[in-house]
Parts: sequence; structure tokens; C-alpha cells
Amino acid sequence: MPFYNTDKIDVLFDEETLSQRIRQLGEQITADYSADEPLVMVGVLKGSFLFLADLCRAVDLPVEIDFLGLSSYGDSEQSSGVVRVTQDLSRSIEGKHVIVVEDIVDTGLTMAYLLENLATRNPASVKIASLLHKPARTKVDIPIDYLGFEIPDRFVIGYGLDSQNKLRNLPFIGVNVGDGLPI
Ligand code: 5GP
Repeated sequence: MPFYNTDKIDVLFDEETLSQRIRQLGEQITADYSADEPLVMVGVLKGSFLFLADLCRAVDLPVEIDFLGLSSYGDSEQSSGVVRVTQDLSRSIEGKHVIVVEDIVDTGLTMAYLLENLATRNPASVKIASLLHKPARTKVDIPIDYLGFEIPDRFVIGYGLDSQNKLRNLPFIGVNVGDGLPI
């Protein structure tokens, strides 16, 4: 028996669906960049950690991996529009090609802030990979270069995405259809 209540979670994307799509995104990235130029994949903590882990293994290029800690939500499910850097990159990105790896672009406020922030550091280029996008909630249009899936306006959990800091370790992406945490 898993630790979560399977009756209270609707699965949107199961493990096989996620892994197939991520393999395709990895092939696109491999085709778009050159092994001769520096490429760094920047995971936005914490939600992107599983997506980044799978995506970077689907990329057949010598990539550098780094992380940026950003927080926009606190414990609430509503975007506050206020973005806080909780952990900065460990190395310079000057002159390097950057792919920002996000779990989900919702209002776009977090990514808009991040793009502005990264541009001041003189990277060679910046592109965005996001596993999910909720177009219905857009406040700032963000060009997503490598998108996994568009989803309806539902609060999703699993595969890195949390509810009250839990459920990031679900191997699939789903929607909580019960009251409270489905644990
Ligand atoms: P944005 O600034 O685009 O509104 O929100 C970006 C961040 O909000 C995401 O990186 C993610 O951490 C959080 N977020 C947005 N929608 C969801 C959702 O449906 N589920 C979860 N768990 N987090 C979300």
C-alpha cells in the first residue's frame, strides 16, 4: 500500500507518460545546442528537482547543472507576486547558454522575475524548459521553449510539485480531489 490515498488523487500524467515526453524534450535540446559551447541547466528549487534529474539525463551533451532557490507562494496555493531568492547560483553564467528548468509556469510572475534577474548576468542565451503550463492563469506572457504539457486551471501535485511541502515524491502528477492532504 502506498503512503497516499489513491482514491483521493486523480492522475493526470503517469510515470510512463512523463518519461516519454521528457525523452522527447531531451532530444530537442540535444538537437538545438552544440557540444562545443557551454550549456548550463538551472533547476528552480524546489519543484523542478525531479524534472531536472530526468531531463538532464535525456540530454546527450556535456551540461553543467546548477540550482536557484526561489519562493513565491509560502504555504498558500495563491501566487503572491512577490518572489524571494532563497538560494543563488553557485557559479557564473556569463557567456554560457542557459536553460531554466521549471516545474510549472502558472501566472508567469516567477519566471518574468527570473528572466530579468538572469539577463543582468550576461549569459550567451536563456531558454526555458517547463514541465507544465497553465495558460488560463497567465498574467505575464512567458515564451516556453521546451514545454511538457499544458494543463487546465487545477492545483497539481506530485513529481516535484508539493501541497503544504509534502507529496513532492509522488512518481506521477495528479490533482487532489479529497478534503485536506490525501495521506
Ligand atoms: P507563477 O509565478 O508562474 O504563478 O508560479 C510559479 C510557481 O508556483 C511554480 O514554480 C510552483 O512552485 C507554484 N505553483 C503554481 N501552480 C502550482 C500548482 O498547480 N501546484 C503546485 N504544487 N505548485 C504550483
